[in-house]
Parts: sequence; structure tokens; C-alpha cells
Amino acid sequence: MFNKYTEVDPWKIIERGWNAENHPKSESLFSIGNGRMGQRANFEETYTGESLQGSYIAGVYYPDKTRVGWWKNGYPEYFAKVLNSCDWIGITIRVDGEVLDLNTATSVDQFYRELDMKRGMLLRTMQVTMASGKQVEVRAERFVSIVRDEIGAISYSVTPINFSGEITVCPHLDFDVENEDSNYDEKFWDAVAQGAMDGTSFVRARTKKTGFEVSVAMRNALYLDGTSIEWSASNDAKHMFISECMSKTVAQGQELRLEKYVAVLSSMNHEVPSLDEKATILAHEAAKIGYENLREEHENAWGIKWETSDIEIEGDAEAQQGIRFNIFHMNQTFTGVDDRLNIGPKGFTGEKYGGSTYWDTEAYCLPFYLATAQPEVAKNLCLYRYKQLDKAIENAEKLGFTGGAALYPMVTMNGEECHNEWEITFEEIHRNAAIAYGVYNYIRHTEDWSYLAEAGAEVLLGISRFWAQRVNWSQEKEAYVMLGVTGPNEYENNINNNWYTNRMAAWTLEYTLEAFAWLKEHASSDLERIASKTKLDPASEFSKWSDIIEKMYYPYSEKHGVYLQQDGFLDKEQLSADDLSLDERPINQHWSWDRILRSIFIKQADVLQGYYFLSDRYSEEEIKRNFDFYEPKTVHESSLSPCVHAILAAQIDYPEKAYEMYLRTSRLDIDDYNREVHEGLHITSMAGTWMSVVQGFGGMKIIDNELHFTPKLPKEWKGLTFSILWRGATLKAHLTADGMNVTHMGGAAVTFAVNGVWHELSAC
Ligand code: BGC
Repeated sequence: MFNKYTEVDPWKIIERGWNAENHPKSESLFSIGNGRMGQRANFEETYTGESLQGSYIAGVYYPDKTRVGWWKNGYPEYFAKVLNSCDWIGITIRVDGEVLDLNTATSVDQFYRELDMKRGMLLRTMQVTMASGKQVEVRAERFVSIVRDEIGAISYSVTPINFSGEITVCPHLDFDVENEDSNYDEKFWDAVAQGAMDGTSFVRARTKKTGFEVSVAMRNALYLDGTSIEWSASNDAKHMFISECMSKTVAQGQELRLEKYVAVLSSMNHEVPSLDEKATILAHEAAKIGYENLREEHENAWGIKWETSDIEIEGDAEAQQGIRFNIFHMNQTFTGVDDRLNIGPKGFTGEKYGGSTYWDTEAYCLPFYLATAQPEVAKNLCLYRYKQLDKAIENAEKLGFTGGAALYPMVTMNGEECHNEWEITFEEIHRNAAIAYGVYNYIRHTEDWSYLAEAGAEVLLGISRFWAQRVNWSQEKEAYVMLGVTGPNEYENNINNNWYTNRMAAWTLEYTLEAFAWLKEHASSDLERIASKTKLDPASEFSKWSDIIEKMYYPYSEKHGVYLQQDGFLDKEQLSADDLSLDERPINQHWSWDRILRSIFIKQADVLQGYYFLSDRYSEEEIKRNFDFYEPKTVHESSLSPCVHAILAAQIDYPEKAYEMYLRTSRLDIDDYNREVHEGLHITSMAGTWMSVVQGFGGMKIIDNELHFTPKLPKEWKGLTFSILWRGATLKAHLTADGMNVTHMGGAAVTFAVNGVWHELSAC
């Protein structure tokens, strides 16, 4: 079953035994990052076998020229991609001149790779027999500091097992890299400078078109059996590559250990003229602090992160490992220190999806950061969209909208649309609603109303103006309709009246009206400022919105008692996913696209996504009816699908279904369900797993602005413990078969209900 080769452990991902076929998968699984930068778990030493080298810096991207068959007006000219950047982990090892390379080694024994999620550390040990018959023991450990987010450090040791001889270590920086997904096989970096300052080497490169400059510096230290050896390396420089080599005669059983300290600085945060100097100083400083100290502060910082974000699951070791793996990757992908950064669907673990921002952020990731980190973290995700509002307005203008209407891109890096398939670029407009929902979620969770005046209201206004123009009045239906859209279910294109889109558009208008009413009452001078900046005409705009809310058209089936995913949905052949044979699944790999479009099969939650977002407005009975109707037709071919179903299933008391859906998200990557983990991890759906546990089994829900828990512990688990940061308080919920206990761990006074019973806890 599946493609499982790692061991189950509560805090670690462990791979034992060398199998080159698993290496590209492990490169994804064992990835490390710190929000500012991250990298795949490539080997430090030379490896000529199959590998996807990947080292990424958040926010540093390249606009790759679009590649499409038939150009359509309105298509974006480029697709921004997060760039593979300087490969800074490299350490070439030569043993009496022979290069250490697992691909050419005679045997690799006792191979052990470990990702310690508690400490944020990547470790590898092994014994290698080289073609010459010489055997060495290797221990490689590294981390990217979560405290100093421009620093990475490696400790790499080689010990001769059956010989004494000369070992040469050549730590290097290689900026001559490429992106595997480059559209025209172009290299995206130009060389700018390289050299050494005060014994610290550096390489600087500049991105083509976008002009980002990145300087990477390294400082090395060498130890023989723990005793420091003067580092008097010879330098070797090639194009965008710099290496420092040093040879040492090492006796059998002696350990030669290199410490490599690297600083990665970009022009996003530093003035270009000072980049190299700062990078070299920083690498040198890191070396002075020392490996152990850097590691200790890094581990402590991870400890603090885990205090508020950990989830303990008793009685199910696989589930425990799965949830921690997901939390770990969420925490290393986005740390919330910079509102120019966001969360790509693959984070720092691969190139697919270009590292760009999708609606995934607001729809799936935001709740995780809201509940496990200080409000600034989630606020920065919201501010990211605020800062891109002008671009969203421009984007809408390009498509013919006017008067400040904003259409946020489906895929973006800097606010401009990058996606270029018409059915998604122009039609998958529901993303706008998710961004409005993000504002709503942020404010209701934190009660930070000041955000509305600061940024949120303008975002809501732009989006509402878009909806008001995107609908049209149907004489026939005597209602507002929305034509030619793609809903979250991307297995339908160019449909009319997608219930989810219509419903979320009306919801956005409603919420925007509420938000402006709040401003009028509580922040009238802000309202004036916003109104004048945006040329708001409340009388006509607000009344138009009210009219749309009242007269929006929703396709409905009396017979089934459900809203229809879109007009004509019942004309489709009414099959269920069980009617598909195993060899037809996933249908996106076995069926032609037109067959998929004509079929009933649903890629991911669509109508049910709406019931999830607005679940406090609908009865359980109604949600159940819709779940019974839609879930069987759903093939869950987006990793974002099962989590929403797990939450709803828990809510409507379908425990088996909830657990089945949860299992599909929990270990999706660790067990490589989709046989694609080598391309990178599904970071945004990891947030969905967190939601399944906390909002599904923990039953956390905000109803009428109050916090509720309606827990549903799966029978497979003995206990579940999770923390929630809620309006200045930290709560720890512990759930067993006997019920839920919520402890106030500190902070503001708090009120919440467990199974409808209210609890009021004072500040502590
Ligand atoms: C899903 C989208 C999602 C994207 C990135 C697609 O497969 O259908 O909803 O935004 O992946 O995760």
C-alpha cells in the first residue's frame, strides 16, 4: 500500500537504508526552512544520481515568459516563479583524490536520515565503501536558523574506517543553478560579483528582469578529532561558483569535521552596495557564535513554536507523526515576519506551482496561523493582499471592470496575475471571496477591529465592487446571475450560476456592508478618509449591493432539497465515484479533459466549501443533505478536498467518513499517496489537516462571534490535545472519550462554550 518507506516516530521522520530511488522523495520530505529561505534535503557532498537541487529564498522570483498554445487577450505575459537560488550546502569530499559520491560508491551501509521536527534539524549518517575499497563514515547535520533567518549552518564529518589517507574538503557556493520548470530552459540569474572579504568567500547574482540581488557568503572551520585546525584553504573560482579547499592527512578512526556557516542576504532587505560586505560579516559572526550555540538558540525557538502549535494524539502513532509533520512544515514555510511573503502550495520543497500565492492562503492556511501564532503573523498575510490591492484593481481594469473594482489574481507573486489558462485566470473568480473571508476570519478571531480601518475595508470594498459588476440582471429569472465562471471544482469550466461563487459574492457584499456600518459607528473619520480615497458613493453603491444580496439567483433542486453546484447540474449522468473502476482513477490522469468536464465528478469541495465557510448559518440537517448529495460524487483529486469534507463529516456526526477523509490528508506526503512527493510537499493542504483535527475532531467553531467547541473524538484515538490562541488568551484543549477539558494557559479573560455549556475564565 502507498509508497511508504519511512519509519513511524512521534517527532521524527526517519529513513533507514540507502535506496537511490527514494532519494528524490526524501529530498522533499526532509526539506528544511525558516520562512525566509528553505531548501530540499539535497546531499552536501557530490551526488551524480537523480536529484532535484532546490534552494529557495522567499519573495525572490522571476517572471518566466508565458507558454500557451493560443493567446487570448487578457492573458498575463509571464508566470512568476520562485527561483532556485544559490546551492550553498555543497561540500565536495575527496579521499586520496577519489570523489565521495553515493551514486558511484560500491556500497552504502547503515544509511540513516532523520528530520527532527521538534528541533528543526536534518541529520544523516552512513558508512560508504568507495570504488577504491576505502571506507568512510559520514555524519552530516544542518539547519537553517529560525532565529537568524539569513543564516544556515552545517556540521559535516568524515572518518576513515579502513585506511589512513588524505581527505580533501571543499565547501562551496554554486550560483550557477537553474529551475527545472523553466519554460524556455533559460537560466534566471546573472553573475554580479564573487570573491572573498576578510577570509570569507561570497558569490552575488542578480535575477534577470526583476533585478533582485542575492549575496551568499560562507565561513568555514575545520576540526580534527575535535581540535580546531587553522583554515588555510586554497580558493577555486569558476563562473558563479566559489570553493575553498583544504586537505588533511587523517589517520584511520580520526574524525575530520567541517563547520560551514552561510549567510544568504537579498536586496529585498538590504541595500545592494552593502550586500557582499554584510553577507560576509554575517557569515563570519555566525562562525564566531559557533555551531552549538546557533543550534541551541534555533532549537529553543522551535520549542517555543511547538508550545502553541503542537497537537498530541494519543493512541495513534501514525496520526501523531502525520499532524506534527504538517505543523512543522507550516511553521517553516511562513513565520509571519514580513508582509511581502506568503505561502506557495509547495513552500520551499519544490518548484511546482511556482511558489506563488493562491486562494489556498486565506481558505486553508489562515486559520492555522490565527490559532497557533501571535496575531501579527496572520495580519501580515492579510496585509499582503492589502498591499496588492492596487494591482488587483489594475487586474480588474484589464478585464474591463471600472471604478475601483478589484479582482485578485488566482496565482501571484507581486499582485499581478500569473495564471494563464482562461478558465482559471478569467473565470475562477471565487478566489476574491476567499480573500474577503480572510479579512472576516482575521477580525472575528482576533477582534482587531482597527484592521478594518487600516486596510481591511478597502480590500472588501474593491472586491464588492467587482461582484457588483460581475453579476448581471436576468430578465428571464428576475434575479442577478453570474455567468461563465469556474468554481472551486475545476472539473467544470465556464458554467453559469455556480452556487458557491454566487453565495460567497452575496456574502462578501453583506459583510462589506456590515464592515462599513461598523466604521460609521466606531471610526467615522477613517470612514471619511476611505470614502474620499476610494470615491465611495454609499447611497448608490450600498443600495445596489443590497439589491444584489436580496435578488441573487441560486440554482436549487426541490427534488433533492439541495442547492445545485451550477445551472444544469442535474442534466449530467448521475453517477457516484464508486462507479469508477480503480484503473480509471485519478480521472485527471486517465480521462480526456472533455470527458471530465461533461461528467458529474467533482474535483474538490465546491458547494460544500460554501457550507464549510458559512456553516454557522445553515442547519445540520441541510448540511447533511448536501453532504449526502455531493460527497459521493467527489473524487478528491485536489489535496485541498478531503479536509473540508472531514470537518463537515465530523460536524454532522459521520465519524467514519470524517476519519476516512482525515486519513487522506494526514499522511498524504509521508506515505506519498499520489506518487508525486518527489516534486515537493503539499504545504497548503497541510493546513487543511490541521483544520480537520482542530475544527473537525476538536469541533472548534466561531458562532455569532463566540468560540465554541463541539468535540468528536475519533474512536481510533485515546486522546487529543491542542492549543488555541484566542483574543489574547492561550487555551489548551484536552479531549478524551469522557469529554473535553479546556485549560486557560495565560493571557486575557476568555469566554467559550463546550457542547453548548458556557465557560468564563478570568485573565491569568
Ligand atoms: C486546486 C486549487 C488550488 C491549487 C493550488 C489546484 O489543484 O484545484 O483549488 O488553489 O491546486 O493548491
